[in-house]
Amino acid sequence: MTAGGVPRAHHEALYAALVRDIEGRWRGVRVLRKSESRFCRLIDRALRILTFGGQDRFLDSYVTTLGRRIYVPDSWFTMDAGERYCILRHEAVHIAQFKRFTWPGMVLLYLLLPMPVGLAAGRALLEWQGYRETLDAHWQLYGPAAARSESLKKGIVRRFTGPDYAWMWMLGRMVERAIERHLERLEAHPPRPLDLPDPR
Ligand SMILES: [Zn+2]
Repeated sequence: MTAGGVPRAHHEALYAALVRDIEGRWRGVRVLRKSESRFCRLIDRALRILTFGGQDRFLDSYVTTLGRRIYVPDSWFTMDAGERYCILRHEAVHIAQFKRFTWPGMVLLYLLLPMPVGLAAGRALLEWQGYRETLDAHWQLYGPAAARSESLKKGIVRRFTGPDYAWMWMLGRMVERAIERHLERLEAHPPRPLDLPDPR
């Protein structure tokens, strides 16, 4: 590990180790193609209607975890390994949430509490736990400067305030402050350096 993070040459091996780790932690975890899932195509249609077409990239731009299934777009398999690693860290948080809150609990939190759009606190909380892990993963993999980058911050804020998750949280400034506070915590207590697996 260098000040700038983990050299790129190790990213693919780290990703593979993370997949093995997740499969070891939760039995039956599977990475599946969205395009081959009828359920995902149904969600895609519902999202297009609910967001007036604002979210029309569900099938080809996003990774979605439902229970122990991690649904990925076809582009996943050619995506940069570091990016796949960081996204999978985020999705592992959602797998743990499904385990903790169960399916009915997740549906309730994700879709209904307290309002479906605008101030969807349940969804915002679940996603915030995921994006905290996204920040940790960026810090560990790419280094502190990358985790602090404006573009990462803007991207996360946009996820909360835009149509991606059906406008789950209107107050972008609050999301920015939460990100800044989390970065201060990382500064004070940096996450442990990643163990580099032997390249296979
Ligand atoms: Zn998420």
